Amino acid sequence: MLNCNTNHWLNFIAGDWVDSDSSIEVRDPSTNEVFATIASASLDDAERAIAAARECVREGRLTRQRPAQRAELMYRIGAEIRALVDDAAVLASRENGKSINDARDEVSEAARYFEYYAGMADKIEGKSIPLGEDYVDFTSYEPQGISVQIVPWNFPVSICARSLAPALAAGNAVIVKSPELSPLAITVLATACERAGLPKGALSILAGPGREIGAALVAHKETNQIVFTGSVPTGRAIMRSAAENAVPCVMELGGKSAAVVFPDADLDQLVSSVRWGIFFNAGQVCSAMSRLLVQRDIYDEVVARVAELASSLSIGAGKDNPDVTPVVSMGQRDGILEICQQAIEDGARLVCGGAAAAGLPGAFVQPTVFADVTTDMRLFGDEVFGPVVAITPFDTEEEAYALANNTDYGLVAGVFTQDISRALRASRALEAGQVFVNEWFAGGIETPFGGNGLSGYGREKGQEALYSYVRTKNVAIRVAR
Ligand code: NAD
Repeated sequence: MLNCNTNHWLNFIAGDWVDSDSSIEVRDPSTNEVFATIASASLDDAERAIAAARECVREGRLTRQRPAQRAELMYRIGAEIRALVDDAAVLASRENGKSINDARDEVSEAARYFEYYAGMADKIEGKSIPLGEDYVDFTSYEPQGISVQIVPWNFPVSICARSLAPALAAGNAVIVKSPELSPLAITVLATACERAGLPKGALSILAGPGREIGAALVAHKETNQIVFTGSVPTGRAIMRSAAENAVPCVMELGGKSAAVVFPDADLDQLVSSVRWGIFFNAGQVCSAMSRLLVQRDIYDEVVARVAELASSLSIGAGKDNPDVTPVVSMGQRDGILEICQQAIEDGARLVCGGAAAAGLPGAFVQPTVFADVTTDMRLFGDEVFGPVVAITPFDTEEEAYALANNTDYGLVAGVFTQDISRALRASRALEAGQVFVNEWFAGGIETPFGGNGLSGYGREKGQEALYSYVRTKNVAIRVAR
C-alpha cells in the first residue's frame, strides 16, 4: 500500500495493513518538521506476526513449490520494486534526508537483491558423501524457519532487501522491525511482495520505537535466526538474548575503516574515493572511509586536496540533490558536533567544517576534515557516523598497517597504490572483512560483506550470504544387501 498521498502509514502484518492506537512521528531532517506518522506496533502485533510466520513455515507455503517457482516469485518482487522506485525514493529522501538521486539508487539496489537471489533460489544444492557400498549419504539445506531482521535507518530499503531477499529465496518467513527514524520507504518492500503474490505470513514489517518490539521479537522462542545492523551496544543486547535460545545471528555493527595512501597513489582517484567514501549519505555509512592514513611525503598535499574537496561540496535538502545532505536527526547532528568539539580539545587540527551548516534549519553538518589525528584521540577510534574524516600521517608500510588495524572494528579497509605487490601485501595485512584497492566501495551486491571484531560476524551479500538462512541436514542411509 505505497500511497504517497497519505500522511499516516500502517504496519504490514500477516498480509494485512494494520493500524494501531499509538503512532510514531516521522520528521524531515532538512527542516526537523513532522511530515507523517506511522502506526506503532504493539506486542500483540509482534505475536500476530510470529504466529503468521510460523503457519507459513509449517504449511511450507514457500518450500512446497519447486524452487524454480520461488525464483519466479523473487523476480516478480524485484520487478514490482522497480515499478515503485520513484514513489519510494521521494519518501526515502524525505524521511532520511538523503538526495533523491541516492534514494533512487537505494531502491533500485533493493530490486537488484531480489533479482540476484532469484537466480540462486533453485541452486541451493546439497552434497552426496561417499561412505562405501553399504551406505548412501547426502546433505540438504533447509530454511532456518523464522528470521527476525532489525533494520537500521541509514539505508532502510536496501539493507532490508539485502537480508530479506536471500531469506525468502531460501524459503524462510521474515519479520522485519523497521527503524523508527525512517520507517516509511521500507514499506515499498511489503507492497512489492504483496503485489507479486508472496504467501501470507512470509513477511511482516513492524514499526516500533525504542527496544520493546525488537527485543520481544529477538527473544521469542519461535525465532530461529536474527539479522541485526546497528550499534554495538544494541548488538550486544541482541546477542545476549539470542544466546538464551541458541539462535544464530548475523551481526553488522559498524566500523572505523581506514584507507592507506602511499606516495605512488593516483590522487585524482583518491579524491574521488574520498568524495563517496566519507561524504556520501552524509557519512552515515557503516563502511565509510572515516580514517585516512597518508604517507608523510604526500601528507600536506593530500590534506590540502581533501580540504579543497570538502569545501567545494554543496549542502542542502535531499529534494535539491546537493552533494551533502542533512544527517538523519537533530540528535545525530548534535552527537557528531560533540565528537568534533572533543577532537579539537584533544589537539586534532580542524582543517575545515566542524560545525552545523549556517542558515539551514535542519540537521546539517558541514563536511569536516581533521588532520594530525593521533591514536590517543577519541576521533581515531570512535565511529562518528557523519561527514567527518580523520587524517593521520605515517612513515613506513608496517606503521601504516599497524595504524589501520589499531581499532576494535574490522569492517572494510582500503589501499591506494600503483604497486601491485604492495596492494597484495596490504590486502593480507589489513584486518577487515573486505579490502578495497584504488577505489572505495569497489565491489557490489555480488561480493561478500561483513566484519571482524566489533564490526560483527556473518556475511551479507553475494552467494555466501544465502548460507546464513539455511541449515545443513545430513541423511545417512544403510543399504540392505
Ligand atoms: P540502535 O543500535 O540503537 O538501534 C537499532 C534498532 O534496534 C532500532 O530499531 C531499535 O528499535 C532496535 N532495538 C533497540 N534495542 C533493542 C533490543 N534490545 N533488541 C532488539 N532490538 C532493539 O541504533 P540507532 O539508534 O538507530 O543508531 C545509533 C547508532 O548506531 C548510530 O549513531 C550509528 O553509530 C549506529 N548505526 C550503525 C549502522 C550500521 O550500518 N552499522 C546503521 C545505523 C546506525
